[in-house]
Amino acid sequence: MAVAERRFRNYIAGEWVDASSGEMRPDENPADVREILGFFPRSTEVDVDRAVEAAAEAFATWRRTPGPQRAAILHKAANILEARAREVGEALTREEGKTIGEGVGEVLRGVQILRFFAGEPLRPFGEVFSATTADTFLWAERVPLGVVGVITPWNFPVAIPLWKLAPCLAYGNTAVFKPAELTPLTAHLITEVFIEAGLPPGVLNLVHGPGSVVGEAIARHPKVTAVTFTGSNAVGRHLYQVASERGAKVQLELGGKNPLLVADDADLNFAVELATSGAFRSTGQKCTATSRVIVLESVVRDFTEKLVERARSLKVGPGMDAATYMGPLVSEEQRQRVLSYIETGEQEGARLLTGGHELAEGDLRYGYFVAPTVFADVAPGMRIAQEEIFGPVVGVIRARSLEEAIEIANGVGYGLSASIVTRDIRKAFDFIRSIEAGVVHVNSETAGAEPHVPFGGMKGSSSFSREQGRAAMEFFTQVKTVYLDMPPA
Ligand code: NAD
Repeated sequence: MAVAERRFRNYIAGEWVDASSGEMRPDENPADVREILGFFPRSTEVDVDRAVEAAAEAFATWRRTPGPQRAAILHKAANILEARAREVGEALTREEGKTIGEGVGEVLRGVQILRFFAGEPLRPFGEVFSATTADTFLWAERVPLGVVGVITPWNFPVAIPLWKLAPCLAYGNTAVFKPAELTPLTAHLITEVFIEAGLPPGVLNLVHGPGSVVGEAIARHPKVTAVTFTGSNAVGRHLYQVASERGAKVQLELGGKNPLLVADDADLNFAVELATSGAFRSTGQKCTATSRVIVLESVVRDFTEKLVERARSLKVGPGMDAATYMGPLVSEEQRQRVLSYIETGEQEGARLLTGGHELAEGDLRYGYFVAPTVFADVAPGMRIAQEEIFGPVVGVIRARSLEEAIEIANGVGYGLSASIVTRDIRKAFDFIRSIEAGVVHVNSETAGAEPHVPFGGMKGSSSFSREQGRAAMEFFTQVKTVYLDMPPA
């Protein structure tokens, strides 16, 4: 395996620069840790401060850059990313582990996101009102916030940064982007795309490094007006306190514990495909992954047998291998976390039907592989039914009625996405009305979202705001109301 000697840098004020610490961290391939993709800076507060200063300076000009010019840069970025889709997709697969189909697919999703937001500066961004006096012109317009901190996780290292950065920049803000430490290469490539598209210096600044140092410094920096965060609940809640305490605007997109309900009239083969894809695609490392399947008792036995058979048939291996259905977990830490939840499930009395262990035959021993895992007889109160596992583990929960199934589905602290498999329109509507989730599916898997519509969770899964589509404007802008009166003649 090739060991890249490439040493990467931060991007601040229009230049690639070393971090002040001089320290670097290797970026490894989770499917084969013998491959190092490069070395990335471990930055400090000093680097964050430089990046924020650069972003603050650039804001003065970028906010006044006409919308059509901002739009043209985002359009160009979309075209460049599209042309580089295979290269960026491969980098994503090598550093995060998902399959090459998912990797390239995510990049193409990124292209769609850029195209949508390239249109935003050309669309209306305010409202005109009549006033009580005849010569008053009265309108409310959306204006940018200033410097926005963009803190992202590793599981969608192209799509999530883009669905934050694209609206951030389109609406006239400047950004300090801190990607997850596990996926710095894709962040580097995204930044390159924006540079090549002609983004002026200082508008986008990339600072690599640990969340507890770099992320924390962004959250605390007095010149960072807003922070958009996607990641775990523990970090998100902490960051919310730190940033909102000093008056910053904060957006959180957090975890999920997403249910797929299988009604007694469902086509079970179809339901099994939705459960399999929802639970095991991306190795279960999606915030919208299916982690609970709540099945009506008359069909639970058949459904579970079919699901186990399907899980056993899945090809697990490196994402670069075209035949692979499921790649590795992203890191050893994530693998240990998943194995520990599997142990908890067994201790709690759930029945382990398949998987539950590492895979280390042949070359798989060089990666972080865990077999697709199915538990049956999961009780709604068990930890494996309540907490986000973020791995290829799904629990089957039995319900006596649709009402009970919905009650179980709602009986967790999360509310990101949820799905039902049914042919019965009444059941579908009962579900839609009663389910506490920000994204609801009927006869499609829990994971999956169009790039032009609002996305986000209810309850513990978000901070009430929504990302993507025009909903992104809510977070990335603020309202200025203008009363313009004619001077006395
Ligand atoms: P994480 O919370 O560990 O890290 C997220 C980001 O926060 C990283 O960039 C990290 O370096 C940074 N960070 C860590 N400590 C920080 C601190 N003290 N201050 C500021 N920043 C800090 O999450 P992760 O493991 O990278 O991602 C997995 C999580 O993300 C899961 O819980 C998943 O459900 C969630 N997620 C949610 C969505 C959504 O849209 N709702 C989408 C994808 C992932």
